[in-house]
Amino acid sequence: MRDPFSYSRRRTVAVSTIGHDNVPRVVADLSLSPIVHMEDLAVIGHVYDPVTDKWAMRDIAAEFLYMGAHPLPFMAPAGTRQILNYGTWSTHNDQFYCVPMFTPAQYLSQAPRHGVMNVVRCDIHELTKELIDGLRNDTTAVLMLSSDAHSYYTSMRAACDMISLSEIPAPIIFAYATEAPSQEIAVLLAATDMGGLLVDGFGDGLMVRVGIGGALDQGLSTRLAFNVLQAARTRMSKTEYISCPSCGRTLFDLQETTSLIRSHTDHLKGVKIGIMGCIVNGPGEMADADYGYVGSGPERITLYRGQEIVQRNIPTAGAVEALIDIIKTDSRWVERDLNVYDRWR
Ligand code: SF4
Repeated sequence: MRDPFSYSRRRTVAVSTIGHDNVPRVVADLSLSPIVHMEDLAVIGHVYDPVTDKWAMRDIAAEFLYMGAHPLPFMAPAGTRQILNYGTWSTHNDQFYCVPMFTPAQYLSQAPRHGVMNVVRCDIHELTKELIDGLRNDTTAVLMLSSDAHSYYTSMRAACDMISLSEIPAPIIFAYATEAPSQEIAVLLAATDMGGLLVDGFGDGLMVRVGIGGALDQGLSTRLAFNVLQAARTRMSKTEYISCPSCGRTLFDLQETTSLIRSHTDHLKGVKIGIMGCIVNGPGEMADADYGYVGSGPERITLYRGQEIVQRNIPTAGAVEALIDIIKTDSRWVERDLNVYDRWR
């Protein structure tokens, strides 16, 4: 029986850079309309600089590009791989760096496959005994799984259990699509539907497609995939903030202060900052933060490194700068790359 208090990830083989000990990967779904210009990939975190003729890959950048029937008309950024529909891949001139995506019928038809990685895309209802038998001994398969059931989480959870019990070694990428009236609702839906699966140790990658008001939001889709992975603590790709919910003891405007601290530090990958309204309960609530910014009196802040107090009762004015100084002292500060960052955001 699984221990509900400990995390263990489902064991899989490594296929290319997916599964086994690799962090969960993010696949950008670019299949709906052809990509024409290199600059079009900025929205998924790959920024092309025509002056240097080089790509910059942000911390939040998709590693796999699902292009469907429309391969890129230029060389893909280094470190990425295109996934093409099988029919398109089979006539493409680069059948190594591009990998095929099969329907279950194509996969079972004994069609020629890639030597390293073969994506099989199916809905949970297509997980037939024949497909399971075919996947059981295939160490090149990656299962891209979708579900149109009313409850994405419960249906996908049952499918993941069945895949585990069937001893299929293939990594699983969750293909997730949702339509929401606002970004806030999309975040809630995606976190609810996929977060529990990741916390339970399932999922070696995400492919998220989010529409807001009927229009696909590619940038939000990519960010959301990384954010859900980070919230599930399965892949850290940016600064993490832990703030208290605020209550009658709160000694400063929590939202305003959090957003001020974020505006200075949200490029520090992997750093965890606790922002707590009072010193009574704050230090306990931010127990695993790297740094703490805690209200300790009216217009007074106490700064922590882990659980250790570094500066006590300093004036609020200048406290954010003092926090940055502590991060710098620890050599965990990097300057923001404003040009590229702003273009991407
Ligand atoms: S840390 Fe202090 S201010 Fe924040 S919710 Fe807890 S008791 Fe309230």
